[in-house]
Amino acid sequence: MDESENGGTELEFFRPGSWQEALEIKAAYPDALPIFGGTDVMVDINFDRERPEGVLDLTRVPEIREWGEEDGRLRVGAGVTYTRVIDELGDRLPGLAMASRTVGSPQIRNRGTVGGNLGTSSPAGDALPPLYVSDAEVELASTEGARRVPVAEFVTGPKGNALGPNELIAAFHVPEAEGPQQYAKIGPRNAMVIAVCSVGLALHPEQEKVRICLGSVAPTPVRGREAEEFIEGVLEWESREEIGEAALERFGELARMAANPLGDVRGTAAYRTHAVGVLARRTLKWAWDEYRGGDHTT
Ligand SMILES: Cc1cc2nc3c(=O)[nH]c(=O)nc-3n(C[C@H](O)[C@H](O)[C@H](O)COP(=O)(O)OP(=O)(O)OC[C@H]3O[C@@H](n4cnc5c(N)ncnc54)[C@H](O)[C@@H]3O)c2cc1C
Repeated sequence: MDESENGGTELEFFRPGSWQEALEIKAAYPDALPIFGGTDVMVDINFDRERPEGVLDLTRVPEIREWGEEDGRLRVGAGVTYTRVIDELGDRLPGLAMASRTVGSPQIRNRGTVGGNLGTSSPAGDALPPLYVSDAEVELASTEGARRVPVAEFVTGPKGNALGPNELIAAFHVPEAEGPQQYAKIGPRNAMVIAVCSVGLALHPEQEKVRICLGSVAPTPVRGREAEEFIEGVLEWESREEIGEAALERFGELARMAANPLGDVRGTAAYRTHAVGVLARRTLKWAWDEYRGGDHTT
């Protein structure tokens, strides 16, 4: 190929066989773009949104495909695919597994990873709301060592994050579900869609807490803190009383107030705001009905 055919630059391709080697390459070539599933990276390269000087292929690094327990939490390697989250972690992380089922198609779920979703840091990333409502932490590593950052601090803006130039995402740390969890997403059609808006919700019965995070309605995923505080004052955790319609309505309204969406081709700002309130109400009802021992499918 002559130079004009690839834009006049040569692409360096690195394929480490261990995590240590990957970190050393990242330290020596900070501009090398990490790639795992490639389901975001390859789209960006194909559409010329990304012209990396080097690519750091992490698919031969065994360490980041592993998950296990560490300090009473789960540590899930950045290279665990959505399919594996669903198959291997669905009972421990039901909210993340629900979100994973909504991602792309089977092919995308077989290649795409939660680590890659974190790397992209899109406000529409389906893996993010479930991580926010479980207070997950992202483990970043470089040759200098590792650090853990709460996911809400890791994601800094639309497609912006706290990853330093020498760092790679090693894993995320998250507690096993302490109670019912839900995830719901609206898209312009049933499959293969980026969320117009989404909601992740988790009940933490031991602490009598509710956590809700809205996706695709602000520059980053955003917690609905006022909605959380309001409903925590309403729920009867011991007697497990049904939630009244008025309280559900108010919860949805307060969740809507946390939204600050842009309008785009997938939905107007007004539609997103309305829809996220509906999803908030529904996910709360489903989760609470499950907590009460009922079936939320009716
Ligand atoms: C057809 C199609 C449908 C899709 N549908 C959805 C959907 O429904 N919901 C959704 O959320 N997303 C969707 N996506 C986007 C994509 O699949 C996800 O964001 C996925 O999680 C990316 O994971 P990956 O392993 O493929 O990441 P890659 O493309 O390999 O990487 C993504 C980003 O993360 C960085 N990165 C990857 N691994 C690391 C690491 N270990 N350390 C540091 N940085 C790293 C990369 O440099 C890049 O910036 C879709 C994509 C396609 C092509």
